[in-house]
Amino acid sequence: MGNGASAESPTTVQVKAAPESSRSAPSSDQASSSKSSKSPSHSKNISTKAQAKQRGTRSESSTPRKGKFEEVEIRKNGAPSRPSQRGQGHSGASSVAAKQGKGQEDIVFETFYHRSGKEIQCMYLGNIRYYLDDWGSKEWQAFPKRWYNEGLLVTNTVLKDEQAAAQASQAAQQSRGAASGSGAGASGSGEAAASQQGAPRSRRSGDDREGILKHPTKGKIPTYIYQRKHNVHFFYDQDQGQWSRMPIGWELHHEMVGRLVNQVEEMLPSWGDRGDILALLRQCNYDIDECISTYLALEGDPWLKVAKTSKEVKGSEEKDEKIVALEKKVKELQNELNKERKERQDAEKIVKDQQEKLTDLEVNYKQAEAQLSSMASTRPKSSMRPKTPQVVTTVVKEETVNPDDIEELNDTAKTVRKAHVQLKMEVQRNFESLGGMMAQALKHVKMLKNSGQGQVEELEEVRALYRKEALQRRLLYNQLQELRGNIRVFCRARKDDRVDNCLKFPSDQDIVAIHPQQGKKMFTFDRVFGIDTTQEQVFADTKPIISSCVDGYNVCLMAYGQTGSGKTFTMMGPENNPGINNRAIKELFQVCLDRKETQTYKMVVGLIEIYNETVVDLLSDDAKVIDLKTVGNKVNLPGLIEIEIKSPDSIKSVMKKGDKNRSVASTKMNSTSSRSHLLLLLRVEGHDKVTGSVTRGTLTLCDLAGSERISKTEAEGQRLVEAAAINKSLSALGQVFQALRTSQLHIPYRNSKLTQILQPSLGGDAKACLFVNVSPDANNSSETVSTLTFGANAKQVALGQAKQNIKKGLGS
Ligand code: ADP
Ligand code: MG
Repeated sequence: MGNGASAESPTTVQVKAAPESSRSAPSSDQASSSKSSKSPSHSKNISTKAQAKQRGTRSESSTPRKGKFEEVEIRKNGAPSRPSQRGQGHSGASSVAAKQGKGQEDIVFETFYHRSGKEIQCMYLGNIRYYLDDWGSKEWQAFPKRWYNEGLLVTNTVLKDEQAAAQASQAAQQSRGAASGSGAGASGSGEAAASQQGAPRSRRSGDDREGILKHPTKGKIPTYIYQRKHNVHFFYDQDQGQWSRMPIGWELHHEMVGRLVNQVEEMLPSWGDRGDILALLRQCNYDIDECISTYLALEGDPWLKVAKTSKEVKGSEEKDEKIVALEKKVKELQNELNKERKERQDAEKIVKDQQEKLTDLEVNYKQAEAQLSSMASTRPKSSMRPKTPQVVTTVVKEETVNPDDIEELNDTAKTVRKAHVQLKMEVQRNFESLGGMMAQALKHVKMLKNSGQGQVEELEEVRALYRKEALQRRLLYNQLQELRGNIRVFCRARKDDRVDNCLKFPSDQDIVAIHPQQGKKMFTFDRVFGIDTTQEQVFADTKPIISSCVDGYNVCLMAYGQTGSGKTFTMMGPENNPGINNRAIKELFQVCLDRKETQTYKMVVGLIEIYNETVVDLLSDDAKVIDLKTVGNKVNLPGLIEIEIKSPDSIKSVMKKGDKNRSVASTKMNSTSSRSHLLLLLRVEGHDKVTGSVTRGTLTLCDLAGSERISKTEAEGQRLVEAAAINKSLSALGQVFQALRTSQLHIPYRNSKLTQILQPSLGGDAKACLFVNVSPDANNSSETVSTLTFGANAKQVALGQAKQNIKKGLGS
């Protein structure tokens, strides 16, 4: 416990007994609710904003990026005065000392834990310690001496470090065995730690991010809570003196966010609920396109239309379950009904047969009777005789009747009666055995049903295990890729023996360009390929990215640089020394082959050219122009001809056809290949034989138009139009990189056809690889420097976590 001796210097303060609550890692919400309740809303001396700073309890994730230090005025009497009202929150840095003006005195902020349980904010300034009298005067007062024996003082820096350590060890403990979504960096980690506290341990895997969602129509859906970088909207709460999360109801009135919601509403007028739209927008990191496509993908889903409150949700869940159970029951009953109907029909048939037989017999009987009566009537003097059997017996006694005839008739009648009785019994027996058979059949059906259920469950379990394994393998693999960055920039210098070399390669990540005016300029990339690098070496570094398109990722490779710098050589390459193009397709086939036990794949390829903002289909017979259509973040190329490739070699014929069409198109448009972008669009669709899930990945290989700026003398007519189009699309590409780099909410994909088509491969869920190609020719040094600058700018793009495109198959 801190005792009196430590009063004079903040450095001697003990930290052992900091209360548990303050050691944990509160989320910003917790921090604000637990502490702000005590802070005065109209503090007279040091403002509550300064307190917000000194507390330093907010996790990094909740620190708005643009927050800045609030300066603290020091009063003559040594107590600090209220700072200006326009404070911008705390810094989150470890510094708790605010410096001001000439005095340059350090203020050390502390927390005093009184044994009564009170937590009091203190400040050490000019050898005097003050405490903030929250409850009474709401001013800074001299720290009472007796308190030194009544509690513990903790400087807020130390508290922060302790917290961090506690947090770190906790995170370390919890991350064991948990396949975390990685890549969240500073943001989110605080929240994650907070959310993990006290969270229930997961059922089997120990990973509580994994789960199963029981959907009324889709059945069991595996779920995973990814950890991601996310934009969170805060507002500055003047009363509390701190930043707080913006409620949805407020945010709808925010100008920029309101605009986003309006845009979504315009696109999807059927949705209608602005609060819902904003909630999904938040989930989609304020990305309109993703929001729209998420909604479209699930449109018509029953859950999108139900229940807002937890009670309603619970009620609807129960209803869902009941509906499912009832539907099952209805099906069972229907089956039984059908069976019974059939059995009834069979029985009816039997009865009908028997009835027919009975009718026959009755007819026979009647005939016999008629015969009998006619015979009786032929007897003389007996025309008035009644026809009753008794009479017949009387007749028998008469000597005049032929006794043989009577006997015969009697026999016939007896036989008929006997047959009648027999038939009745047979019908009875048939009915009885039918009942027995039905009971037995029912028993068998039930048994079959039960054993089927067991097998289905077992199969489901195996499937779930397989799915989990596959998910984990891909997660790990892709985490590795993401750690390396989802956009990678490679630099390749072409070989040219005829010219003076103006490039130097100090390491395999650095390149130095020597410029006559600007001097030496060094650039760093993920990898620099010097002039002697072979096509194999270049391909080896792109292979991991390329193969992930088989896992359902959108992957894009681009070559940027001036004409003659080796873009086409790198992407296509000559026939005897192919570039990335051919090798990529070979590699994809290999990956598919390796997985053929569990997956089947289909690959189709399209080839387009973008010239003067016109998209031309190079695989159509007449170099057809395509009009782009965008829905959500999906770009459609209506009518694009796609050819299925069934072997690595078939790409050659595709390229040949494309080449031929390209020259047709270029004469038609009077262009040369260096003035247009060539895009090879490959789609891979994989079907998992075990789970039935479908993955869809794309690989876009892009040989960009020459990036050289044309001189004023050249700039006329067709050349000027071309130059403008190339300039537009390449600067749009640069702007997209810029917007991604600064994490802007709006990424200007729509500024050019090129970026529109590349959007799915550049956004937050893609993997991209940019080659900047340069020539060693000293005459080109200006272009070389500008190309390298473009690459260096792109390099800082931090794409979010890549996202797989997996759809649950019908079969699972
Ligand atoms: P771009 O497509 O950028 O206009 P090309 O790929 O057509 O440039 O290259 C121009 C010339 O340089 C071609 O003749 C090509 O064969 C040659 N070339 C490019 N890169 C290399 C290299 N790394 N090694 C050898 N020759 C190369
Ligand atoms: Mg070229």
